[in-house]
Amino acid sequence: MSTTVRLGVMGGTFDPVHYGHLVAAEEALAQFHLDRVVFMPTGRPVRKTHRSVSSAEDRYLMTVVATASNPDFSVSRIEIDRAGDTYTVDTMLQMRKESGEGAELFFITGADAVREILGWRGADRLAELCTFIAATRPGYEADFPSEAVEGGGPRLPKVEHMEVPALAISSSDIRDRVAAGRPVRYLLPESVSAYIEKTGLYRAPTR
Ligand code: NAP
Repeated sequence: MSTTVRLGVMGGTFDPVHYGHLVAAEEALAQFHLDRVVFMPTGRPVRKTHRSVSSAEDRYLMTVVATASNPDFSVSRIEIDRAGDTYTVDTMLQMRKESGEGAELFFITGADAVREILGWRGADRLAELCTFIAATRPGYEADFPSEAVEGGGPRLPKVEHMEVPALAISSSDIRDRVAAGRPVRYLLPESVSAYIEKTGLYRAPTR
């Protein structure tokens, strides 16, 4: 019997985390037979200069309260505690070190972000570290380089595609709704909307 641990790492800004993210993580767990999923809030997202991102601590705490009731989910501080811009390759190197050679690693995130990561530094290194799971809403045209889709290669990580209808929910829409005083109930866990209300996050438009 194999003792390999299949570990999902769910990367995202989570500003805020919502049911689309939670459903995507649960779907990845089932479809790819993962043992558990570690949510990884981004520390300092690269290329997010067009809007101010909420503090890492707020995004981390919202992710903790959103995932608290699921024993297969946990949240890591690796990225938010690391100084400088966040690069996925640094995170997965650290996850590999912490989980040991016996673990098989999967990095789960939105398909647009996967495409961006493949074009950044460290894509060749990531090919040795993990498989990517690119989450999209149904009907999205995924156009990853064929080398990535067909099974990875010396230069590109393997990319698996996963359709998640709940990803019609988006963080930017939730931020806009809060700023406009429109309802967000049923889009995200009540614990997260209570946190948003208590802290006053997103009351002013952020983009
Ligand atoms: P983004 O560009 O803000 O998001 C792109 C799309 O993917 C949005 O529709 C977003 O929806 C969705 N998305 C984001 N995270 C998701 C998740 N975990 N599951 C399902 N959909 C998701 O992406 P980002 O948040 O900045 O980056 C995502 C991840 O990629 C992070 O871990 C980030 O560090 C990494 N990344 C790394 C590099 C690099 O290493 N060079 C470059 C870019 C991104 P919502 O807005 O609703 O979440």
